[in-house]
Amino acid sequence: MRVRLATAPNVNVTVTARETLADRIEDLLPQTQCTKCGYPACRPYAEAIAAGDANYNQCPPGGIEGVARLAHLLGKPVIALNPENGVERPRPLAVIDENVCIGCTLCMQACPVDAIVGAAKQMHTVIEALCTGCDLCVPPCPVDCIAMIPVTLDATGWDAWTQDQADAARERHDRRLARQAREREAAVARAAARQAQRHAERPASHAPDDAQTAPAAAPAVADDPEAKKRAIIQAALERARKKKEELATLGAGPKNTERVSADVQAQIDAAEERRRRLGLGGVSEKNESDH
Ligand code: SF4
Ligand code: SF4
Ligand code: SF4
Repeated sequence: MRVRLATAPNVNVTVTARETLADRIEDLLPQTQCTKCGYPACRPYAEAIAAGDANYNQCPPGGIEGVARLAHLLGKPVIALNPENGVERPRPLAVIDENVCIGCTLCMQACPVDAIVGAAKQMHTVIEALCTGCDLCVPPCPVDCIAMIPVTLDATGWDAWTQDQADAARERHDRRLARQAREREAAVARAAARQAQRHAERPASHAPDDAQTAPAAAPAVADDPEAKKRAIIQAALERARKKKEELATLGAGPKNTERVSADVQAQIDAAEERRRRLGLGGVSEKNESDH
């Protein structure tokens, strides 16, 4: 359970019912999940500070106010932000140029709080209220169509970010991690089931001796895993083709796809292949279930 506490005049933070030092440090972090501290998210950075492996001045989104909060908790002096981790700045918002977006989904896969919606080969959009300004969607974009636009004038750090926004970002990140864990578990379970099925079918294909003399029968498509796979792919392609035709009729078909260069297409294919290997579900499905 998380409750809101006033730790100093004008400073409210959300604290959890847990008691470890890492928990209390995490409660003070802005939760943009930007990785600028050098850790994959706010929680691992909190754990590193608690373990004495990281300094408490590595979080640019928290700025000097964030350093002061951590210093107060840890009983240490307020020190300057480490410039190697970045600078305190007005909070930016990611904005996608929809005329250039090719719908490759790479930004969605990079966003730590699921703030981007869209589907493969269709334009993508950032949900402003959910964007933490973490910058993580910018580098993967193969057509460089994401701009980070400052939206808080001169306000920086915690002056540009509220505790409610931090709480919401943390919750969305936690949900994303839980979903990814479920998807990985499901992928492992599917792989185990396939392996078990292959194992179960093996004795039948290496039939008993007396069967070796019987005339060889062609395997039925229903029992041939490769044939099944091809049929599933064929059906999926057919569904995608029909969907594309429907969207085109409504004037809402995929945009910019004819402008994709061979390099970009290779990146898209590699991303799709990665998702297939990991057994991750469709990105559009994912966001529909979240909103
Ligand atoms: S907001 Fe960014 S820099 Fe700060 S702790 Fe979280 S991930 Fe690290
Ligand atoms: S849209 Fe981009 S900048 Fe905004 S939270 Fe997602 S990855 Fe970060
Ligand atoms: S082209 Fe850029 S903005 Fe569009 S989906 Fe790909 S990464 Fe996202």
